[in-house]
Formats: sequence, structure tokens, C-alpha cells
Amino acid sequence: MDLKFATIQEIKSLIEKKEVTPEQVLDFYLEQFAVIDPTIKSALEVFDKASILKSFSGKGLLAGIPGLIKDNINQEGRIASCGSKILENYTAAYDATVISRLKEEGALLVGRANMDEFAMGSSTETSAYCKTANPWDTSRVPGGSSGGSAAAVAAGLVPWALGTDTGGSVRQPAGFCNLVGLKPTYGSVSRFGVIAYASSFDQVGVFTHTVYDNALVYSAIAGVDEKDSSTLDLAKKDYTENLTGKFPTGLRIGVVENALEAAELDPEVKKVVEQAITDLEKAGVTVQRISLPALDYAAATYFILSRAEAASNLARFDGVRYGFRAPDIANLEEMYTKTRHDGFGQEVRIRMMVGNYVLSSSHAGKYYNKAKKVQRLIRGEFNEAFKDVDLLLMPTQACPAFKFGAYDDNKLQMDLQDYFTAAVNIAGVPGISIPCGFTDSGLPIGVQLIGPHLSEEKLFQVGHAYQQITDWHKKNPKV
Ligand code: GLN
Repeated sequence: MDLKFATIQEIKSLIEKKEVTPEQVLDFYLEQFAVIDPTIKSALEVFDKASILKSFSGKGLLAGIPGLIKDNINQEGRIASCGSKILENYTAAYDATVISRLKEEGALLVGRANMDEFAMGSSTETSAYCKTANPWDTSRVPGGSSGGSAAAVAAGLVPWALGTDTGGSVRQPAGFCNLVGLKPTYGSVSRFGVIAYASSFDQVGVFTHTVYDNALVYSAIAGVDEKDSSTLDLAKKDYTENLTGKFPTGLRIGVVENALEAAELDPEVKKVVEQAITDLEKAGVTVQRISLPALDYAAATYFILSRAEAASNLARFDGVRYGFRAPDIANLEEMYTKTRHDGFGQEVRIRMMVGNYVLSSSHAGKYYNKAKKVQRLIRGEFNEAFKDVDLLLMPTQACPAFKFGAYDDNKLQMDLQDYFTAAVNIAGVPGISIPCGFTDSGLPIGVQLIGPHLSEEKLFQVGHAYQQITDWHKKNPKV
């Protein structure tokens, strides 16, 4: 049975018709990992079959469907390293809420996905363990920070994967790897058991080939959780129910004009996204050009706020309670400094230093407090825009997948990867990246749809309808 690049929907139907058993499905994908992952390196660990099946509930929305989990999400009894040496030997004592919900829905969780250390990055190059390759061109990065999750789905190793998106870490790698990537409304998915980077932005997101599949996995994980007080009062429901394949009548999409004119945008990406807009217009969607001037400040605002939150969140890794502790230490202070110096990689250390700086009493007024004000401005602009249009559209990515090391000498340029995604996290609204074409050299490009709070259902409806008139998502790399 060849299940390579099969969608969840297809595998579900094969299982329901008893043409294949969950165990055979699992065997197929474990074999894919064994053959292909030595070149892609998407997983930090693939679990053994018996232990995967031990928690198999046998029923549910995702019964018998294998998926890969980003390594900053706790899976009971498994390591959760966050791609960092400091948590190399940390074993999760409990399941994150998203994990227990996936298990209840019958999902088979096959392993841990590589990631940028503590989700800080746009290329998965800051992982302490290995660099993950983009299945479309193995000399290029898969994007980040959820690069392992994206690469695994793109290479056909699993039909879905979980990532986290704090400033773009699901949507940007989805764009780089020709996948659908959802960053849900802040508070719609529980963060309980998700190791924090910047808590006011972090959300668990989903990678799949199709919007339909994405809605399925979202249905399994979304909803209020008493263990996470930041979750919204959202009842559980099946988001695939209203996926008719038609665009909602009267739909108005606002194309963010200044995003398409931004100097940061690669001309080839622009061309492909413009084509997607034309396709939507041809399908009868009303497209309106709008402007979001505050977008220009989103990456800088994200830069300050995310570092501030990271500095505070990562203070807990001190060699006392979790994971790594530096050996041969003379006293307590040396234990803290050596443990944190040797345990964290350079990118994480820089971010913590920047975070403490922008929070310090002498500089907070100039940086942190000012960034919080700009955040309100950005939120206000999104709210205004959604009075005129149902959804917004802009590019997901500034450029196509880049070569390993492309930004080694210019880290600041790497931060511009967040240009089109971070505003969505700052506003707390949902965004989804959908495959919309390729560059001349065959690298995938994604288009981003953004909606008001809790508009996931509409995003899925529109995205699913778009996938009925296009077949970009059906194209797969030769791996
Ligand atoms: N690229 C962004 C960063 O480096 C986004 C990270 C994320 O969403 N986790 O911070």
C-alpha cells in the first residue's frame, strides 16, 4: 500500500473501509522515516512502534493517523528538548493538553520534531542537534522555527505535524515547504505543557497538505482548557463540517497593498502572490486593496516584546530544577553562569540579554513600554480593517527558502523573515498560509490569509475553496 503524500482524509477513509489497518499505516510511515529521514533530519527521535501503539485509543477524529510533534510540546515519558542542550535529558512528566486531546482522538504520535532552539529562529539552524533540510532542495533550509515539523510533512514522512507559532514559526516554514500552516487565534488552543518562548504570542499550530486536514487536526486540539487560563471560552466542534468547497457568498478580501509594495518582499514571491489574487478574483471573490501602515513596525515590535518575554521565561533554566547542569563547578554562582552559558546556544543567549536590556528600568520606557504602545496601534489597525473586509491577504514569506548559512553574517536580516507574519501574533488574530505557486527554480511560495479573532472557520472555508480551484498543494518534492 503506497500512502506516500496521502492526506489525513484519504487515510481515514481507507481505514474506515478496512482497506488498511492503523498498524499498517504506522508501519508505512515508520519505514518512510527510516529510509528518508537520514537525509532530511526532520525528527530528533522516532519512537518505537510498541510504545506508540501503547497510547492508541483506537477511535476518534484522527484514529490511526500518525503525526510528528515539535520538541517544545510535552509528551509524557518522552524527552522534550526544545532543540536545546540545556534540556537534552529532560523527560516530560505529563502530556500537554494538545497531546492528551490528540491521543483521545486516536492520533498516533510518532516522534519529536527538530526545531530552532527554544523556537528562536527562522531556519531551524539554531537547533543544538542538527540542521533539517528542505525536502524541495536539500541545500536549503525548511524555514523555522518549526522546520522539523514542516520538513517531515513535506517529505511525506507523516500527513500532519504540530508546530508552534510565536512570530511566524508555523506559517513561514509552511510557505517554504508547500504546506498549509495555521497559527490559530491566541487563546483558542491550550498552551498547557508547551514550553514557553514568548507566552503572550505562543500558539500551537498545524501543518498539513490540505486545508481540510488542517481543520481536522485543529478540531482535535482547539477549545477551552481549565489548565490554561488564557484559553478562550470556545466549545469543541468539528471544523470540517461546513467545508463546502465554495467561497462564502459576499466574501470580501482585503489585499494589504503596502505589504506587496514592501522593499523586504522578493519580486518572485510578489509575482506568485499577485497571481493568487487574480485567481481569487476570477473565482468571483471581491478583492479590495487596503493599507496597514503599522505593518512596517511589526517586526521591530515583535523583536522587543518577544525578547523581553523570553528573558523572563527562560530564567527558570538554571541547572537546579531541569535538565543540564555544568560539571566541575566551584560555587553556586558559577553553577548558574556556566550552566546557562554552556547549556544555551548563542542565539538564545543574545535574545535573553536583549530581553533583559529592554526591560531594565533605565531602558523600558524607550523599548518595552513603547513597543506595547505600538502593539495597541497594530491591533487597532487590524480591527479597523476588519470593519471593511472579512479577511486580509498578504504574503507569508519575504523570500523563497534560502541556503544554509545565508544569514550567518547578517542576523538582523534573518529577523526580517518575520516581516509578514509577526503582526498577526501581535494582534492575536489567526493566520493561515496556503501553497500558491512556485518560483522559476521550483521553490514553493505561500499566501497568507488573516481573519479577525476566532475566524478559523471562515479561514478554513476560504482556504478549502481556494484549494478546489488550484492544485499547488498536490505537488510534492522528489524525495
Ligand atoms: N522567526 C521568529 C523568531 O525568530 C519566529 C519564531 C517563532 O514563531 N517561534 O523569533
